[in-house]
Order: sequence, then C-alpha cells, then structure tokens
Amino acid sequence: MKTYNKETICIQGGYQPKNGEPRVLPIYQSTTYKYDSSEHLGDLFDLKAAGHMYTRISNPTVEAVESKIADLEGGVGAVCLASGQTANLFALLNIAKSGDNFISISSIYGGTVNLFAVTMRKMGIEVRFVTPGATDEEIEKLFDANTRAVFGETVANPALDILDIERYATIAHKHDVPLIVDNTFPTPILCNPFKFGADIVTHSTTKYMDGHAQVVGGVVIDSGNFDWEKSGKYSELTEPDDSYHGVVYTRDFGKAAYITKLRVQLLRDVGAAPSPMSAYLLNLGLETLHLRMARHCENAQKVAEYLEKHEKVSWVNYPMLKGNSQYELAQKYLPDGVCGVISFGVAGGREAAVRFMDSLKMAAIVVHVADARTCVLHPASTTHRQLTEQQLIDAGIGADLIRMSVGIEHADDIIADIEQALEQA
Ligand SMILES: *Cc1c(COP(=O)(O)O)cnc(C)c1O
Repeated sequence: MKTYNKETICIQGGYQPKNGEPRVLPIYQSTTYKYDSSEHLGDLFDLKAAGHMYTRISNPTVEAVESKIADLEGGVGAVCLASGQTANLFALLNIAKSGDNFISISSIYGGTVNLFAVTMRKMGIEVRFVTPGATDEEIEKLFDANTRAVFGETVANPALDILDIERYATIAHKHDVPLIVDNTFPTPILCNPFKFGADIVTHSTTKYMDGHAQVVGGVVIDSGNFDWEKSGKYSELTEPDDSYHGVVYTRDFGKAAYITKLRVQLLRDVGAAPSPMSAYLLNLGLETLHLRMARHCENAQKVAEYLEKHEKVSWVNYPMLKGNSQYELAQKYLPDGVCGVISFGVAGGREAAVRFMDSLKMAAIVVHVADARTCVLHPASTTHRQLTEQQLIDAGIGADLIRMSVGIEHADDIIADIEQALEQA
C-alpha cells in the first residue's frame, strides 16, 4: 500500500478481500482462533510462526487497521491500543524501566503530564521536562547514562506549539536515544514525523482519526529506523527475553524489533487491547480522514481570521496566522494545515470566557477535541485542572484560554454562533 497516495490508503489500506470475501472489513468478534495441530499453536507461542492466537495480543480486524495506520505514517508496523494514554505509556515503557529517565517537552496534553510526572514516576521512571524555549545546551544537560528517550507532540494540545522535530531528533540521536512524537493533532494526513527524523509515533485515535467522537483508542507506530544495537542502551531489545525462551527482538525481528516487543510482551502482559468493534469504527473514521482534515483546517483558518479582527477577543493563537510565533515552524512541518484547533482569549478574562461559552448555541461544551462537531473547552478548569499554576504556565495555558475545536459544519454557521455568543460575553 505504501506506493499509493494517502487518500487511497485511507480508503483501500489494510484490507484487500480475496475472491468472494466481504468487500467491507469484517468485525472479527472472536477472542480465539482455531488451529489444526498443537504443534502449530506451540510455534505461535514461541513466535516461530505468524498468526493470531488470542485477541488480547492480536485480532484480524484490529490488524487491518494497524496496517492502514502504519502505511499512512510510513512505518514498519503499528499496534492499536485501548487509548491514547496507553499508547504513550507503552511507547516509553517498551524501552524504559525503573531507574531510567526520559526528556519531554513541557507543553503537552495535561493527561500526558500526569501520566509522566505522577504515575510513571511511581514506577521509578523519571520525566525531565524542558520548556519549548529551551536551548540545545539546556536540553543536552538533562541527558545522563540512563536517559532512554525524548518525547514531544507535533502540535501541542492545547498550547499549539509546534515541535521542531528535526532539532529534537538531532539532539536525541546525538545521545543514542529515539525521538517519540505524539502526532495526534495533525494526523498522518498533515504531517509524517518519520520524514523529519522521529523514530516512534503515537496517536490518540480518539481524536481526528476516529473523528466522530465514538471510540477511545490509541496507536504506536515504529519507523524501523532506530538502531537499537548500535545505541547499546536497550538490552531488553538486544538480549534474550526470558519470557519467550530467549527470543532476541533485534536479531529475530530486525527493523520490527521495537513494535514486536511492544505487542508480544507489553500488550500480552498488560492487556490494554482495543475491541474488534472499536477497530471497525476507527476504520470507518479513517476512510474519510483526508477529506475531514482539509475541511477542519479550512474552517479553522476562517474562524481564526474572524476572531483576530473581533474587538472582544484579546488574542488568538492559530499557527497558520501570519505573525504567530509558530508560523515558520508550521510552514516547515505542516504546509497543508495544522489542525482544526484554535485557542483564544475573550477580553474580560475567566468570567467573560465562561459567559461566552455558556452563550454558544451550536458549538457544545464537551471534554473532547478534534471531531466533526465544533466544540469548546476551558482547559484551566477542566482537562488541565490537576496541573499546578507553574505546570499551567509551562504548558502555555492561561486562565482566559478557550480551546475551540472547529468542526466540519459550514464555516458561516460556526462564525455566526461565535458572533452571537461574543455579544453576550
Ligand atoms: C487526548 C490526547 C491523548 C490521550 O488520549 P486518550 O485517547 O484520551 O487516552 C494523548 N495525547 C494527545 C495529544 C491528546 O490530545
């Protein structure tokens, strides 16, 4: 499928029926698989043969979606998981253990900040945050012998800072560790971080990929480009795995070492697997991803330009606005569009922001972002509520910040709704 354009992969990728088989990807709602001999099943357990044995580890419906997403990102393999949170946790846990540390940009999704700073810390894995403005020197000072990865979001939720992927990849590679990029907001339609040197990509598929706010899900994709052996820091990938009678992932699975380990070890043991039904719904979303992303970006541009001119709006943050601090990076990494999410402040601070939101008639207040329907959220009092004042500042979130996820309705209707709500603010 890699030779096709992304639009074609969205529709045709992952599943090619043979003669007489269903045209549409079937939902294989089965936990288990039948084999004719115990020997064959034994080989599956030893990873000597390929095939499904239990849906916690793999399933044909889920596999088709994984294959489509791997092709869209240009990776060697992907593993779908129960949520975006699991995707980021697994992406790191696959290469870091108690006593290790990793470096992360601070302006990332609030749920990820909690995962890194609280829960992973309890597991003995230490996050070292860098602010987006940090110099190369400041970042490099944070590395030590136990540093295992660098992490960032292509487009930060909700600060909308754009990750200078090439710069961070260069720094990570200089220290023989991979760069992991959460590419949720742009989706593979607008950016392929592997092209700029990222090694591992994650997504919350809950957002644009599903696009209809139906199923929570996540995915990890492996570029296959990171040389784990040469780095010398990843014995779990380069030395025998006792839980598989001595499989050595790099020796036995080559470029797919990382993603194979993530599936057969982490997913096997932790079990955060997506259901076949969820994978089927995600696949339906992916079939129109290319059309939706184009419209999200077009509408967001119109809304951002409208807001910028409005006297009751104190500031607008959308990387595609000329004069935005992220404009240059956006042109480099996301020339076809950034995403449909905009943040802005209403003159009058927190109270005016709340009055504006409560006056909206079509756009709904929901704890979600990046689906077909326009919605709004006040991160400081909701998604990022658990963050301290300092963490809020580091994440680029002010008390007056409204996050608007511009949907794919007619732009005029979205703007009319905003206009009447601003009159009430
Ligand atoms: C929503 C989100 C997550 C978490 O994903 P869930 O599917 O909600 O678990 C991670 N990263 C980013 C950038 C997100 O927007």
